[in-house]
Amino acid sequence: MDFLNQDIKFLTGVGPKKAEILNKELGIFTVEDLLRHYPYKYVDRSRFYKLREISEEMPFIQVKGKILRFEKIGEGRTQRLSAMFTDGEQAIELVWFKGIRFVTEKYKTGVEYVIFGKPSLFNGRYNIVHPEMETVAQLPPPEMLGLQPYYNTSEKMKNHFLNSKGIQKIMLPLIRQIQGGIPETLPAFILQQFGLMNLTESITNIHFPKNNELLSRARQRLKFEELFYIQLNILHQTKWREQHFEGFVFSRIGHFFNTFYSHHLPFELTGAQKKVIKEIRTDMISGHQMNRLLQGDVGSGKTLVALMTMLIAIDNGYQACLMAPTEILATQHYATITGMLGNLGVQVSLLTGSTRQKDRTTIHEKLSSGEMHIIIGTHALIEDTVRFKNLGLVIIDEQHRFGVAQRSKLWGKNHKPPHVLVMTATPIPRTLAMTLYGDLSVSVIDELPPDRKPIQTYHYYETKRTALLSFITKQIFAGRQIYVVYPLIKESENMDMRNLEEGFEYLHQMLPQFSISMVHGQMKPAEKDAQMQLFISGKTQLMVATTVIEVGVNVPNASVMIIESAQRFGLSQLHQLRGRVGRGADQSYCILLTGVKLSADSRKRIEIMTRTNDGFEISEADLQLRGPGDLEGTQQSGLPFELKIANLAQDGQMLEIARHAASDILEKDPTLTSSENQIFVRQLKKLKTNTINWGAIS
Ligand code: ADP
Ligand code: MG
Repeated sequence: MDFLNQDIKFLTGVGPKKAEILNKELGIFTVEDLLRHYPYKYVDRSRFYKLREISEEMPFIQVKGKILRFEKIGEGRTQRLSAMFTDGEQAIELVWFKGIRFVTEKYKTGVEYVIFGKPSLFNGRYNIVHPEMETVAQLPPPEMLGLQPYYNTSEKMKNHFLNSKGIQKIMLPLIRQIQGGIPETLPAFILQQFGLMNLTESITNIHFPKNNELLSRARQRLKFEELFYIQLNILHQTKWREQHFEGFVFSRIGHFFNTFYSHHLPFELTGAQKKVIKEIRTDMISGHQMNRLLQGDVGSGKTLVALMTMLIAIDNGYQACLMAPTEILATQHYATITGMLGNLGVQVSLLTGSTRQKDRTTIHEKLSSGEMHIIIGTHALIEDTVRFKNLGLVIIDEQHRFGVAQRSKLWGKNHKPPHVLVMTATPIPRTLAMTLYGDLSVSVIDELPPDRKPIQTYHYYETKRTALLSFITKQIFAGRQIYVVYPLIKESENMDMRNLEEGFEYLHQMLPQFSISMVHGQMKPAEKDAQMQLFISGKTQLMVATTVIEVGVNVPNASVMIIESAQRFGLSQLHQLRGRVGRGADQSYCILLTGVKLSADSRKRIEIMTRTNDGFEISEADLQLRGPGDLEGTQQSGLPFELKIANLAQDGQMLEIARHAASDILEKDPTLTSSENQIFVRQLKKLKTNTINWGAIS
């Protein structure tokens, strides 16, 4: 077995106990795992300061000098040890609250030490609490006298001498050991083409950089490697899928599509809708299975695109299904679609958790006989009892709400996998889409239907809530409807419920002339539906709700979205909520209510919301603020891999370069069979052990 694959317990300074802790806490098993545990920051220990240079802003200071005297101050538990330390010019106080006996025994006056710590200002004088101290003779080895690495650790690790220093101690001999060279993971031509540092040097300098420049080159190389293999993996899978899955060929544009297009279309398609339908159509005649992501901001008209795509499937003798994440949404899609189809003769039905058993049986029969053309529903569609005569197209709305396993089940409902169109109104920044959905083709509806007035967004402090009442009244007298949304977050569910109910009571008392609907997640579906219907039909003027209304709900007459405790929502959630209004011809408003005290991040989110309506700009900002792991859409599904060093928010440009490099290689050798490409195959195999095949499930 080669060195990199060896168990860490055999390394100098590790042993079985520490190895076990590293296994459990950080998932580090092999020498390679350990080498790939990169520091999260570095502190420059190459420079020695004089005490006259000290300032409060310094995160650390390192000084050579001697202790003049020790003094114990106070008694018992409040006792502290103070030492006067001088660099020959000035003096500073060193302070210990713990380990006093140890310190007085270990350190002597008159010996030359190097001290290292954070200076703080106390009663107008500088001191350093619990400094690190070494004799000049004990100074760290030359490798460490540059930028010193700091490693992530846990409480448990610290209890077993695996704090950052402890890891350094294990890392140093290991790095010395690999100086003879470890096997490259990138071929020479790539290193050359992009001017990258080799692996041995990069690993050395990522742990013990001799200077900033070498550190930065090491980081470049390791980031490139990481992004390159993610892209190569994704693109390789795409090629593989194209070769292995034939797709149904929908060559005809027939009666249903044509009649709908000429006689049923309630409005002219936007340019973007036309473009997207063309892209979808190209996929569906290509002979490959379509696997396409349709991104379109809220209100951009994705439902219509879905419907027209389904009509193409039906014209070619296939059935289609449209799956939505919630009952409300499925019901609404059903209403919209049957409304638009009118008397065209397309057979459509709705299947959700609350469909009655009798109706369910009929629907099942009609699906397996082929009489039913389109089925719209929730995850009830996935159940094994739902069988199709000839399912050719699966459309998934707001896909991030569905789990991986649920999606893959839909694939199995025909002998060849059906075409798949995934729709999302959560715009995903390009870098993230390239990584997360790298092997889905992406279509974007980047244009809203004409005559939409941009929603106006305002920020109000909660103290001004009463001023809102007259605004609400005016809007309702003008015929509009209003949403009021409350956060409902699991940890504080009970309190949130109370807020929602109190909010309802408050509006009820202040605006007794109006009727109010209320919807929240703890209601039974039938109850929820009834409340929703009251609002849709205009019988209620206000809708008080939690975020259950967030996704997809379409009430064009609603023109005001009031968001309570807006600081508690993420950016993309705020944007989704705002998208519930602005769907008709009237001027719409979004009011963000918050307390007066706001964190810097919350303030930033509110500022972005009031500045722009552009979903892509907002998702970019979200990526910058929160990092990719927390982005809506990735939370539920999870990034399919963990990035160790690259950062999707910052390394977009490098990602593009890495993708190009990967795609060039596959262009010449799609199956990676040539002998010079075996280096890639080996690396991809390693990657596969801990990633999911997204291509096969979406
Ligand atoms: P989303 O993309 O958020 O799912 P919808 O499909 O619900 O958007 O469409 C939003 C609204 O825009 C609907 O009321 C729909 O009828 C309307 N709409 C869609 N396409 C057009 C168009 N080309 N011109 C005018 N209105 C449109
Ligand atoms: Mg929608």
